[in-house]
Amino acid sequence: MVDQEKLLREQICDIGKRMYMKDMGAANDGNISIKLSDNVLLCTPTGVSKGYMSPEMICKIDGQGELIEKNVNDLKPSSEIKMHLRVYAERKDIHAVVHAHPLHATAFAVCGIPLNKQIMPESTIMLGEVPIAEYGTPSTEELPNSISPYLKDYDAILLANHGALTYGSDLNNAYFKMETMEYYAKLLFLTTKLPEPKELSDEQVKTLVKLREERYELSGRHPGLKLLKH
Ligand SMILES: [Zn+2]
Repeated sequence: MVDQEKLLREQICDIGKRMYMKDMGAANDGNISIKLSDNVLLCTPTGVSKGYMSPEMICKIDGQGELIEKNVNDLKPSSEIKMHLRVYAERKDIHAVVHAHPLHATAFAVCGIPLNKQIMPESTIMLGEVPIAEYGTPSTEELPNSISPYLKDYDAILLANHGALTYGSDLNNAYFKMETMEYYAKLLFLTTKLPEPKELSDEQVKTLVKLREERYELSGRHPGLKLLKH
């Protein structure tokens, strides 16, 4: 196993543990993938808790989701790999994809409420807003088809009655979007139980998007970029 691949396998296990500990899924929920090259990927195995993975359990697959190296534990690639492959096919800037069921974000996805209130700089800068993709049966083509309309403008998507999907230039980038989204959802949940949250003004949001572009130089897409064109 080449060193870089070994490190990435370890990183997938670390992120899996963090997801499990942070209530981003129960039992065997969720999956993670990383692109090693155009036609070689690493992904989490199906039927295994993401909190208890070791590097050799990670599957090595091709661009069609087929195993290209026998897994030492005979584990099979994630059943949601089709959704990951669609992200890589439509977004060449993406090298890692994370799917999870974060408790609060999933509650919004179940209620059909997108995360679209501008309530704090971090979520405005990192995500802008998070749309909800139509419900699709897990492990079928319905899920990749449901996320497709949102891939062009967003780096985080809620999956109706299911969970959430984030992706980025590397694994930390993809995972931190999931963490930011869940924190945003939790905050929105708490503040909507209080009197109406005070949202940032359009001008304040535009200033934050500009800051994102000019000072933070964050990679990926952002729905607020269209504000800068006016
Ligand atoms: Zn799921």
